Amino acid sequence: MSPALQTRNLTKKFGGFIATDNISLNVAAGSRHALIGPNGAGKTTLINLLTGFLEPTSGAVLLAGTDVTALSQHARVKRGVARTFQINRLFADMTVLESVLLAVNERRGLGTRWWRPVRAHADALDEAAQLLTQLRLGAVANERARNLAYGKQRLVEIALALAARPRVLLLDEPAAGVPTSESRELFETIAQLPRDVTVLLIEHDMDLVFRFADRISVLVNGAILVEDVPDKIGSDPQVRQLYLGEAAHV
Ligand code: ADP
Ligand code: MG
Repeated sequence: MSPALQTRNLTKKFGGFIATDNISLNVAAGSRHALIGPNGAGKTTLINLLTGFLEPTSGAVLLAGTDVTALSQHARVKRGVARTFQINRLFADMTVLESVLLAVNERRGLGTRWWRPVRAHADALDEAAQLLTQLRLGAVANERARNLAYGKQRLVEIALALAARPRVLLLDEPAAGVPTSESRELFETIAQLPRDVTVLLIEHDMDLVFRFADRISVLVNGAILVEDVPDKIGSDPQVRQLYLGEAAHV
């Protein structure tokens, strides 16, 4: 089976600066793959290349074996690539259930119709409720997103992304700004997503990464230094050197 997501010799230059340096990455279907590396290593740039937000200087992006390098962000979403965005003002003022329902209807193509068959409405409501259960948001379904704790807001953002029924979910530091007391639950919830969604995640906190990932790629200066299972990454001398300040965690 083709990897869910692949890059081939992917390179991105900003002027003379090489932000992504000949990266060939394979993200296996169903995996929980983490991308780690120091600030400025090129992690966010790589995600931007995967979603089509940025165009590569050279190289290719493949989705389930199909070259999508020339496709727009929107076309890639349709093919199953999702990333999270911060809850916007519209969603912030809606209840959690309303906002997820809106996203589900959007995917179903019912979003802009003022009328809709009762059955279709019930199906969408079922689907939204199921997403809330999956993300442990059932208890806050009727609260406004903006009143939620940050960890829960992140989960709403993930629910909105999942409403598109993606095959691949890209998460760029989902725990950023989330208090430590909430980040573990956030990660447990992400880890429990069904395996038909492949997750590629950027995260700084090594404890969270090692708990979550079944595969880790270490990015340094735009290139992959090493890629392996967490145990091997944890004992890799180059990686330990890189994270010397955090040696206790690695
Ligand atoms: P990370 O997410 O690993 O911290 P980034 O991908 O955000 O790293 O950035 C990698 C490098 O590319 C950084 O040195 C950054 O300054 C540079 N960079 C990112 N985006 C741009 C841009 N649009 N123009 C110029 N340089 C950029
Ligand atoms: Mg970044």
